[in-house]
Amino acid sequence: MIGKMTKTSTSPTTEKGTLCPIARAQDIVGDRWTVLVLRELFLGTHRFEEIQAQSQATPQMLTTRLKKMEADGLIERRPYNDRPLRHEYHLTEMGQAFYPVFLSLRAWGETWCKAPHEEVAIQYTHTPCGHDPGLGPTCQECGGVMRREELSARLGGSFDTERKARLTAFKSGPAG
Ligand SMILES: [Zn+2]
Repeated sequence: MIGKMTKTSTSPTTEKGTLCPIARAQDIVGDRWTVLVLRELFLGTHRFEEIQAQSQATPQMLTTRLKKMEADGLIERRPYNDRPLRHEYHLTEMGQAFYPVFLSLRAWGETWCKAPHEEVAIQYTHTPCGHDPGLGPTCQECGGVMRREELSARLGGSFDTERKARLTAFKSGPAG
């Protein structure tokens, strides 16, 4: 039931076939589901069902991705219930270190992938100065670097509605 770990074939010269860091990173985070799972973990979602509802992955897809992410060192499982045994998913140090990339994806997506009338999905407050830091990577108000621990997130109205609707649809019946 668990997807086999697929690794790029090894080359005689390097352990992972290439020294290129982009190719290696792509091998770890380069698919839709992995990035969406990371998004959920950064937003504070840790449980399988909620990650599934928000990513809209099938249980099989999500299980495969979570296993791979754990094997790659991005996330770790922590038990939150004994009977039945259930786990939450949390970012490791390596996973947390993806945050600047996540912020960059957000900035690029807000800038290039949305129509002018669409609102920003997540509004941040930069806690050191108390202002909207903009798209970063540094705060447009005070110039400080946007660090995760210094950002307080508020979902834009439409994005909040979208996420609540996904959760409601998920709870009212299996979608796939
Ligand atoms: Zn600031």
